[in-house]
Amino acid sequence: MKTERLVVKIGSSLLTRKDGTLDITQMSAFVDQIAELHREGVEVILVSSGAVAAGKTELKNRPKLDTVSARQLYSAVGQAKLINRYYDLFHQHGILCGQVLTTKEDFATRRHYLNQQNCIRTMLDNSVLPIVNENDTTSVNELMFTDNDELSGLVAAMMNCKRLIILSNIDGIYNGNPKNSDARVIREIDVRKDNIEDFIQTSKSETGRGGMQTKYNMARKVAEEGIEVIIANGRKTNILPDILNDKQELVYTRFIPSKEDLSSVKKWIAHSDGFSKGKVVVNAGAKEALTGNRAVSLLPVGIIAVEGRFEVDDIISIVDEDGSMIGIGRTTYNSDEVNEVIGKNNKRPIVHYDYLYIEQ
Ligand code: GLU
Repeated sequence: MKTERLVVKIGSSLLTRKDGTLDITQMSAFVDQIAELHREGVEVILVSSGAVAAGKTELKNRPKLDTVSARQLYSAVGQAKLINRYYDLFHQHGILCGQVLTTKEDFATRRHYLNQQNCIRTMLDNSVLPIVNENDTTSVNELMFTDNDELSGLVAAMMNCKRLIILSNIDGIYNGNPKNSDARVIREIDVRKDNIEDFIQTSKSETGRGGMQTKYNMARKVAEEGIEVIIANGRKTNILPDILNDKQELVYTRFIPSKEDLSSVKKWIAHSDGFSKGKVVVNAGAKEALTGNRAVSLLPVGIIAVEGRFEVDDIISIVDEDGSMIGIGRTTYNSDEVNEVIGKNNKRPIVHYDYLYIEQ
C-alpha cells in the first residue's frame, strides 16, 4: 500500500439505516478500514456527512420548523452524536480523531483558508485523524456548500492530497441508467478527452444533499488540478484497502488526474468562483493569450470593461466579449483603479499569473 495523503468522503446514505438512525455497524466497518490505512502510514482525512440525518431521528417529538432551523437543530444534535461514535470507534484502534467543522466562507479568504489548512496539517503531523463536516448549525443557505462532495474536493485541493475517494451507494458512474441491466460502470474518465455529460443521472439520494451531477462536476475540476478522484461503492466489504492495493477486479470510476499539478495558491483560486466580487471583460487578443500555453498575467491593455465593485485581493471573474467565463483570479487593483487603466499599456498586471486560474 502506497503511503500518501488522501481524502475519504462518506455520504449520509451509507451511514444511516432505512429508518434514518445511524448505522453503527456500517460506521464501524469504515473505521476498521480507515484504521488499517492509518496503520500502513496513509494519512487519511475523513469527510463525513450524516449529522443532519443522525440528529433528526434523535428528536422524538419533532417540532414544526422552517428548513434552516430544522437543519440547524438536527445537525447540532446529530454532529455531537456522530463525532462521539467516531471517537469511540477509532479509540478502539488506538487512533485519536478530531473534529473540523467548516463553512464555505472559511474557503473564501486566503487568511481563513491558510488557517484551516494549518489546523488540518497540525492534526496530521500529530497523528490525529481529522473528521471534517460542514458546520450546518451556522451556514446559511446561499453560502452553503452544494453538498459534502464539493467540500471534500475543496479539502483534497487545500491539503495537496494525491487522491480523493468518494464512497457512495453506487459502483460509480454508469454509461446509462444504473437500473438497466446493460448499463456498465465507466472505469476510467479522462476529463480532457471524454465527455460523459449525457450519462450523468440526475436523481439524488434521499438522505444526503448531493447527487451524481455534483460529484461529476467536482471530480472533473479536482482531476484537472492533478488529483485522482475515485467514485466507489462504500457497501462493498473492504473497499478502501482494496482500492489502495489496486485490486484488479474491483469496479469503480476513476478520474485520471491531469499531468499538471497546480500550485496550492492556484488550487485555492480554482475553487473560488463562488466568491467572485466582480468581473472584467477582456478582448479577443487577451483571451487568446490567457488561454494559450504560455504563462501570462492579465494586463490592463487587454481589458475592455469592468463590472461590480471589488477591492484589492478580492477574487474576480474574467470573461470574454460574449460573457463566457475564461477564468478567475485575485486582483491587485480595486474596481475604480481598473476603470482608470482600462486598455492602457505598460501598467502592472491586474491578476498575476501565480494568482490566475484559467478554465479548461
Ligand atoms: N453536512 C450534511 C450532514 O452532515 C451533509 C451534506 C450532504 O449531504 O452532502 O448531514
